[in-house]
Amino acid sequence: MTLSTSELTFSQQRNTAPKSEAERAAILADPGFGDYFTDHTAVIDYKVDAEGQGGWSNARIEPYGPIAMDPAAAVLHYGQEIFEGLKAYRHADGSVWTFRPEANAARLNASARRLALPELAPELFIESLRQLVAIDRDWVPSGDGEALYLRPFMIATEAFLGVRPAREVSFRVIASPAGNYFGGELKPVSIWLSTGYARAGEGGTGEAKCGGNYAASLAAQLEAEAHGCKQVLFLDPFNDNAIEELGGMNIFFVFKDGRLVTPALNGHILHGVTRASVLQLAADRGMKVEERKITIDEWRDGVASGDITEAFACGTAAVLTPIGELKTADGVIASPGSGAGEVTMSIREQLLGIQTGAIEDLHGWLTRLA
Ligand SMILES: *Cc1c(COP(=O)(O)O)cnc(C)c1O
Repeated sequence: MTLSTSELTFSQQRNTAPKSEAERAAILADPGFGDYFTDHTAVIDYKVDAEGQGGWSNARIEPYGPIAMDPAAAVLHYGQEIFEGLKAYRHADGSVWTFRPEANAARLNASARRLALPELAPELFIESLRQLVAIDRDWVPSGDGEALYLRPFMIATEAFLGVRPAREVSFRVIASPAGNYFGGELKPVSIWLSTGYARAGEGGTGEAKCGGNYAASLAAQLEAEAHGCKQVLFLDPFNDNAIEELGGMNIFFVFKDGRLVTPALNGHILHGVTRASVLQLAADRGMKVEERKITIDEWRDGVASGDITEAFACGTAAVLTPIGELKTADGVIASPGSGAGEVTMSIREQLLGIQTGAIEDLHGWLTRLA
């Protein structure tokens, strides 16, 4: 039977052995990033029936725990998987809000189309977040810069080794309390320039948020770590070494004359929600924003001439992070300054302020979850 979205209501099976209040308090005192998970998970199943009709069913909240899956499940062999990432923020009055979830819902569906997975109604996506955060609301941290990181994902669960889109799929949401992504104080990060590896290419999956892109970035990530860097910058080697993005973050440059420049979405750059929000906030302040091609040569020359004064990376997990230096096999070729830039920090504070309810949400970006 095919169920339409509006017919789906969540059933709820409570975790009978949740973390104790003391255990939770200990975790929330130093949550780190991605190390701990809440007591529950949201799940919705998808199946294509004998008539070839696909539909979502069995929306539920269940205890967090291992997934029982057939060893032949398609996701384990062919990587048919997509994911999302967004945060739930606790406001001063105790209420819990999330940021632009409809953008994540739309992006999940764009990724689904690329990976031949089924689309999920945006209302159902947001309802799954609401259900999970409602039951696990005590896990939403309230410290400065802290939030509950929400990780929706979709996997091909059908046991079948032939290569075609799976007819059984599972959508899930897990949640993880999060402190500062890079740990400790906000220090500018060092970036490694990957020349041997590309993250994405024309017609590939670069624009989709899929696990495979991340798996493909790990060898470059190891190279970065071996050179003392935290993140990798990827270029488009077939397009004058145009700057694309980091393994999981978009990139911006602040110019001396007040311009803000970021690589244009070219079909293989991820459409970051943070990226779109930064562009809007910068335009609101009267900055001239440019989405265009920017090459590694322009970065190097811009820093040398003083035209480029700041560079930062951005994404949900780390918000805005100043880039300290760019290292390559030939040494440091660009260093936009060792401290955190003024513009970077100002936009970062404004964005965090909106997300945490300290600054008025003039764009209607917040949705209440609990
Ligand atoms: C998720 C992601 C981003 C950042 O997107 P946000 O919506 O801002 O969190 C940037 N690049 C890649 C490759 C990503 O996967």
